[in-house]
Amino acid sequence: MNSRIPFNRPFVAGKELFYIAQAITFGNLGGNGHFTNQCARLLEERFKIPKVLLVPSCTAALEMAAILFDLKPGDEVLLPSFTFVSTASCLVRLGVRPVFVDIRPDTLNIDENLLEQAITNRTRAIFPVHYAGLGCNMTRIMQIAENFGLRVAEDAAQAVNSYQNGRALGSIGHLGCYSFHETKNVICGEGGALCINDPALIERAEIIRDKGTNRKQFFRGQVDKYTWVDNGSSYVPSELSMAFLYAQLEMVDTINARRRTIYQYYEHALIPLAEEGWLRLPLACEHGETNSHLFYILLKDQVTRNALMDHLNGHGINAVFHYVPLHSSPMGQTYGYAPRDLPVTEEISGRLLRLPLYYDINEVDQAKVVEQISAFFKKANP
Ligand SMILES: *Cc1c(COP(=O)(O)O)cnc(C)c1O
Repeated sequence: MNSRIPFNRPFVAGKELFYIAQAITFGNLGGNGHFTNQCARLLEERFKIPKVLLVPSCTAALEMAAILFDLKPGDEVLLPSFTFVSTASCLVRLGVRPVFVDIRPDTLNIDENLLEQAITNRTRAIFPVHYAGLGCNMTRIMQIAENFGLRVAEDAAQAVNSYQNGRALGSIGHLGCYSFHETKNVICGEGGALCINDPALIERAEIIRDKGTNRKQFFRGQVDKYTWVDNGSSYVPSELSMAFLYAQLEMVDTINARRRTIYQYYEHALIPLAEEGWLRLPLACEHGETNSHLFYILLKDQVTRNALMDHLNGHGINAVFHYVPLHSSPMGQTYGYAPRDLPVTEEISGRLLRLPLYYDINEVDQAKVVEQISAFFKKANP
């Protein structure tokens, strides 16, 4: 009996239910309770971030970033098109124009060499995305931001526990955004964090997170009334989710180590096919720098990618493509973009295939994946 190999399976670290039971005993389920504080402290200390605010999703963190940067209708923000919709929707909902910049063919991250030519007198910020947990060139991006007076919010949704030159991704821009969605490395179902690296933004961030009220200052005794003072929304996560998350954050090293082993198995086993020219492997990354969030291969063209994807799915292996580039989506086209405007993004997204990668996939299943990829090429070209 052959069982399917899923693309992802949520990982349970072990102490989640215990901590949730504790949270119930403590009696504060709404938010900002014991486990929310524990998660924030752990992230701040481990990743050297001045202030971390836990939020219900990375999307919420990105929305807060756009509000905190005071982005207004008509402003422009630079971002990749090769990303999840939230990187752009957090801007569009404020009337900001997303300006899509092409990616580098080697890292699949925003091409820092194309940023300056995309800057106009309306440009206010850059939202770089660390695809697959591999860092954008943050040194160059922060330099450009400083030269042009721009703000930077890292979409580090996939990059929790990834590093660049010894610094955690998410801790380098003025703001950083993490995701703990069940498809990421460290999870709590739905969850996220806003990393505040510019201390000047902390006070207003706390207000925006709490429905635009100064509740936090009230509880600290800094003001004698708790009232509506600013823009905001319901960006405080449930204490139950944070209890689950804390159990995962305690295991972050174990999770990273396991994912690295899985990643390196694919990397190693697929070398012969790469050398024969059937596929391209991801850029080799510095040991210990990335979090092995996802493993992709690049095929010759879109027709081959789709045929291989069908072949694998026909053999019980759930391999999937990734983004439909935002600039060529129906929404992207309303901003006047045509598919060929970003040639690298268009080309890469059509050739990319992600392989199953989750904490408890075993070597037998990984071997099946590799064997079927190999069988596909050998059958098509005996
Ligand atoms: C997953 C992801 C998001 C959204 O995260 P949520 O926590 O689901 O809101 C945003 N950006 C990127 C690059 C992602 O991979």
